[in-house]
Amino acid sequence: PNSKAGDGKPRLLLMGQRRSGKSSISSVVFHKLPPSETLYLETTTRIKKESMHSFMDFQVWDFPGHLDYFDPAFDVDNIFEEIGALIWVIDAQDEYLEAIMRLNTTILNLQHSYPDINVEVFVHKVDGLSEDYKGDTFRDIIQRVQDELSDHGYENAPVSFYQTSIYDHSIFEAFSKVIQKLIPQLPTLEALLDSLCSTCRIEKAYLFDIMSKIYIATDTSPTDIGSYEICSDYIDVVIDVSEIYGWDRPQENGEGENGHSEIVEIGNNDAESLITMERKGNNYLYLREINKYLALICLMGDDSPAEKKAIIDYNVGVFQAALKKVFPRAEGDPLLPEE
Ligand code: GDP
Repeated sequence: PNSKAGDGKPRLLLMGQRRSGKSSISSVVFHKLPPSETLYLETTTRIKKESMHSFMDFQVWDFPGHLDYFDPAFDVDNIFEEIGALIWVIDAQDEYLEAIMRLNTTILNLQHSYPDINVEVFVHKVDGLSEDYKGDTFRDIIQRVQDELSDHGYENAPVSFYQTSIYDHSIFEAFSKVIQKLIPQLPTLEALLDSLCSTCRIEKAYLFDIMSKIYIATDTSPTDIGSYEICSDYIDVVIDVSEIYGWDRPQENGEGENGHSEIVEIGNNDAESLITMERKGNNYLYLREINKYLALICLMGDDSPAEKKAIIDYNVGVFQAALKKVFPRAEGDPLLPEE
């Protein structure tokens, strides 16, 4: 309900102190920059609006000391009315009291005028911290925010906390959870995925935003980060993301980087979407592009050999048709292929 963007895309805003990691996060998640190369990024020095070739829409804001965004001269409505979630990045490796003070001020201001905006706090750069210190820092930050909010009478403000790092999958996992809250049709998507999984004996199914590798839905069986990693790596192997912009890309597709995997079938002639299935260790992976932005990836055990592919193809076709009913055709609807 709080995805207010006119074009139906969930809209996010990324904020936080300078050097907290905003540019790094957006480069790694949305531009596939290898994490180690963020060392050479220029820090965010102003408001950056980026339009993504993605299921979601995204802006990055920096908070240089002089910018008071609740200044009346600043067109706050124009900005916050459109936003579904505000992601606030805190550098957990640095002194964070000032960052928390600013965060608290921001939450209190938002509670007043825009109570529907989800505030998502990324306690970031946790890769450099020991397990103990990481846990203590996380709890301390949560406590300081909650104390301040309850002092002001807000006991149930929509504020959530995540531990993130660009050096592992945690940043993608956190983004996935943030995005899923902005998709009103999520329960329906989950039910469709559950039914697909039980019909085809699929262990885990993810609906991925191809560009960012954020999953916008999964079936309701327990998620473990391992299956997410396997599926998300498979996107890189199979889909040439540089061609996402074109969508009608050629059918031929190489073996990908991991030579040890055996590709069973690639290509689908009666649709523009790519369908592949291949063996990966003791599992099978199945991928089908749903439209320009989304791909369905399923993980199956050894008891679902390649011969079952026809059944899976059929049922995924049913799933795809159901998706179109859930998201009736609308101008520029990101969940539907553009003709
Ligand atoms: P911004 O000013 O908020 O845009 O911050 P930058 O994206 O420029 O990041 C500042 C520094 O933090 C860079 O040197 C990044 O390499 C580093 N950084 C960003 N994310 C992480 C992370 O998850 N872990 C670690 N260890 N460093 C990070």
